[in-house]
Amino acid sequence: RTFGYAIIGLGKYAVNQIIPAFAECKHARLAGLVSGDRQKAERIAAAYDVPTKNIYSYDNFDDIKNNPDIDAVYIILPNSLHADIAERAFKAGKHVMCEKPMATSVEDAQRMVDASRRANKQLMIGYRCHFDPITQRTIELIRAGHIGKPRVITTENTDALSVEDPSGQWRVRRALSGGGSLMDLGIYGVNASRYLLNEDPIEVTAVIAPSSNPIFSEVEDIISWTFRYKSGALAHGNSSFSTAATSRFGIQGEKLTAVMDPATGYYNNTFKASGGDEVHVLQDPMFQIPALNQFSAQLDHLPEILASGAPSKATGLEGLQDVKLIQAIYRAAALRRPVSTDWGDWRKI
Ligand code: NAD
Repeated sequence: RTFGYAIIGLGKYAVNQIIPAFAECKHARLAGLVSGDRQKAERIAAAYDVPTKNIYSYDNFDDIKNNPDIDAVYIILPNSLHADIAERAFKAGKHVMCEKPMATSVEDAQRMVDASRRANKQLMIGYRCHFDPITQRTIELIRAGHIGKPRVITTENTDALSVEDPSGQWRVRRALSGGGSLMDLGIYGVNASRYLLNEDPIEVTAVIAPSSNPIFSEVEDIISWTFRYKSGALAHGNSSFSTAATSRFGIQGEKLTAVMDPATGYYNNTFKASGGDEVHVLQDPMFQIPALNQFSAQLDHLPEILASGAPSKATGLEGLQDVKLIQAIYRAAALRRPVSTDWGDWRKI
């Protein structure tokens, strides 16, 4: 029997990326839907063969505990709504996959980690890049020393937000998003700086560009930050909601310098390393990469680790650390001075 997920929130990402990705899963299937819009849920259920008895609303959601078809929920709601529904899912005895950012405050993220421990159920964050074959090969190449010790990382994640689109509307409402472009896009760079360097920053500085656009009255548009590391490395990141889509990482190593562009796309990410006369491009067919897309691999990961006992590649603690770093970036920007993030080894929390 494959592992059954109930998707909570039937917005853009759920409908366009995650739900179709079950078709390529080896161990997971779409088993249920949770939505405030019964008609939409029924339409999707009919299209994907989900029994109507497995459709829930937010009112009767807690009854999911009596449904053995559903092993886990996957929360794909606006950011501030993640923590409460995750707690309810753990109370119902389900595993939880939750979209990034896992929560809008450190307290909420910690509450989710605690609820997972109490329930003895997995909490996994939807960090799909950890399942992207190009990203995985990039990390392997860096760890194997191919580009030399990485010393400077740059991460740029931007997109022109449209408030015509409902999925753009909650992103600029602080109560739902928790923040602007950093919460939504910059988080990819925050997370990537850590996996590319295999190190956590000890200090952050940050600047938010003032915006006169009324859309950005509650949340930041353009933000830039620098992480300083014990090893002497630096990572610069920026994110924006008002410039053309960019998803680019730079990795300056002691031997080679590398660029991922796009770095965090849904498909077709690339890695190119150069230095002197050497140029290496990481792309099919030069390197064999698994055909499986990152979304299906991410969905399969939870049943795989439950069966094998292997450690999760995207734990709640990983998500909590990013939420803590994001809050430190906001604090550094507000205080206009460096903020310490030297919290000791988060992996031992
Ligand atoms: P969306 O607006 O398209 O979908 C959100 C869904 O939540 C909608 O169906 C909406 O009806 C529902 N909803 C329930 N209560 C709501 C409320 N009070 N206000 C507004 N909507 C409410 O957004 P999305 O782009 O699908 O993003 C959802 C989550 O997925 C976010 O956490 C986002 O960061 C994440 N996401 C992740 C990726 C990724 O690549 N990993 C990509 C896109 C979005």
